[in-house]
Amino acid sequence: MIELKHIQRRFQVGDQSVHALDDVSLTIQDGEYVAVMGPSGSGKSTLLNVLGLLDKPDSGSYSLGGTDTTHLNDNAQARARSAQVGFIFQTFHLVPRLTATENVELPMTLASVPPKERQARAAALIASVGLTDRAHHRPDQLSGGQRQRVAIARALVMKPSLLLADEPTGNLDSASGKDVMELLEKLNQDGYTLLVVTHDPVVGARARRRISMRDGKVVDDARG
Ligand code: ADP
Ligand code: MG
Repeated sequence: MIELKHIQRRFQVGDQSVHALDDVSLTIQDGEYVAVMGPSGSGKSTLLNVLGLLDKPDSGSYSLGGTDTTHLNDNAQARARSAQVGFIFQTFHLVPRLTATENVELPMTLASVPPKERQARAAALIASVGLTDRAHHRPDQLSGGQRQRVAIARALVMKPSLLLADEPTGNLDSASGKDVMELLEKLNQDGYTLLVVTHDPVVGARARRRISMRDGKVVDDARG
């Protein structure tokens, strides 16, 4: 379970203070499928970064899977992120000079997983996203949809429980965007908790719960 209580996050830009998250409280149960919607600048990415332990709130508490993350030091926070969170970005964030398989292996390399196990897990995940025949291609030899599927395989490799996707279809044509959403939804059906930031109403309508943000606040939380 995810529990945010009274989260505040401000950014200082020159002499201006931007209130990116303003008293956000939110509970998300294991296995939920949530779309996060709202205009540009409303705090969606900041919310996802806090949930994914990429960013720390200024105040408030965040409990992930029963652990209060607010008091973890940077190392413990990085370990929790690696073990529990898979991140998927609009611009894929693949390493250009590595092949698809090597990109999927990378989090395991950083976590000192032995090479044999690394290769086996990467190959299985590359197969599960339908890219076995592209396993040794570099990102610039893959289509946008294929790159995002590599990124999804990489997000799964440390066996997280939570998948966070920030505009995962934002750089894709509608057909490959639909493929990527269907893949994410299949993972949700397999048990992953799924949060998708989108400003595409078609993508949002597919989720079972829609959270709307404005000016750093949750202004609506609709189910069904
Ligand atoms: P969204 O994803 O909904 O477009 P963001 O969470 O990216 O919104 O941003 C919310 C607000 O916080 C915006 O005004 C943005 O400019 C500001 N912001 C976000 N990240 C930073 C940062 N690292 N430094 C300064 N301002 C930021
Ligand atoms: Mg954003």
